[in-house]
Amino acid sequence: MFHYDQCLEDHIKSLQDEGRYRVFLDLERIVGQYPKAYNFGDYTSVDGKCPRNTLEPLSDITVWCSNDYLGMGQHPDVLTSMKDAIDRMGAGAGGTRNISGNHHLIVELEKELADLHDKEAALVFSSGYVANESTLSTLSKLLPGCVMISDELNHASMIQGILHGKAEKRVFRHNDLEHLEEILKEIDPNRPKLLAFESVYSMDGDICPMKEILDLAEKYNAFTYLDEVHAVGMYGPRGGGIADREGLMDRVDIIQGTLAKAYGVIGGYISGKSSTIDAIRSYASGFIFTTTLPPAVASGALTSVRHLKDSDAERKLQQERASELRTLLSEAEIPYIDSVTHIVPVLVGDPVLCKEVSDRLLGQFGMYIQPINYPTVPRGTERLRITPGPLHSSEMLKELVSALSKIWSEIKLPRAA
Ligand SMILES: *Cc1c(COP(=O)(O)O)cnc(C)c1O
Repeated sequence: MFHYDQCLEDHIKSLQDEGRYRVFLDLERIVGQYPKAYNFGDYTSVDGKCPRNTLEPLSDITVWCSNDYLGMGQHPDVLTSMKDAIDRMGAGAGGTRNISGNHHLIVELEKELADLHDKEAALVFSSGYVANESTLSTLSKLLPGCVMISDELNHASMIQGILHGKAEKRVFRHNDLEHLEEILKEIDPNRPKLLAFESVYSMDGDICPMKEILDLAEKYNAFTYLDEVHAVGMYGPRGGGIADREGLMDRVDIIQGTLAKAYGVIGGYISGKSSTIDAIRSYASGFIFTTTLPPAVASGALTSVRHLKDSDAERKLQQERASELRTLLSEAEIPYIDSVTHIVPVLVGDPVLCKEVSDRLLGQFGMYIQPINYPTVPRGTERLRITPGPLHSSEMLKELVSALSKIWSEIKLPRAA
């Protein structure tokens, strides 16, 4: 007889044995006090004692790993617009886009997003994950004999979309133009080719050589799909992402983004030519057979996108904080990846020690940075991914680095040369 429970428990145990079993913190973010949050959690503290678990929050902590990069998730205008939308239009959308759920705010939002990327049209999905998964799997079915060409560090949602599309797949080494061209050359020039890549890669914080990739795509007649999830709202004069900053938006066929990270709400989207968007609208299962995002969500996202089109202050301050943090880490000789973006990964290089640093930061200092382990990053590169933003003060940055430095000494981690 097959033992179902035993089988599933064994899978969990193997994660625990490797030190990469995921533990979620039980948080409640505090409006007006970003990056503070209450921690309701029941974690094991450093000295092995379990703190009490009551209905009262245990403590307030400082969050250093949020993807609400600019604090827009609690911007007063965003909150007001969401409350107004609920008062006027209620909670849910009441249907799929096709069956009574196509409300005015989602239509407005799509117009705003098309304008953001200087494209003819946009299409909103439940999340950025769904946007990637649905669009890529649909395209690989619509383009006959298509080869899907994918950067090896592409996000899981793109990998899944390509997998589900069942077209031939070729993977090029991360940001490696020579390898990419080798692959493009090998494919029959008459076959459709879809090239999927990201602008900002969120684990190392590096940026793709976008112009060169687009040059190759044009030379070999490949259709381009760009994930700007970690760039929209944060780069470019209006927050249109790296393609916006580099003046390359018109050379990308589909630009994909999220409304959940810098825009602070929820939802994902694609933008492109009207005919492209219409094809996905008409064929993508993950778009068609699910209920539309609620009016309040569309309203909040719309307010956030509009705000960041006009305001540069958040973007500037975010970059300043990131470079301040890098300077402090260098001074403390704590190893980190010297990225050119807002993402500052501190390298630990071992899953157990990485969790240990994270536990001590929380237990001793009330600072929260989630350890990032395999398979999100390669083994041996386990890290603490820090995302400082405009609402982290210089004082907070100093406290963080001083705490890290103490822990580095306590558990004898190697310092940077
Ligand atoms: C987070 C993420 C997504 C998914 O976006 P959600 O809106 O959170 O579903 C897609 N691509 C990349 C690169 C991401 O990091």
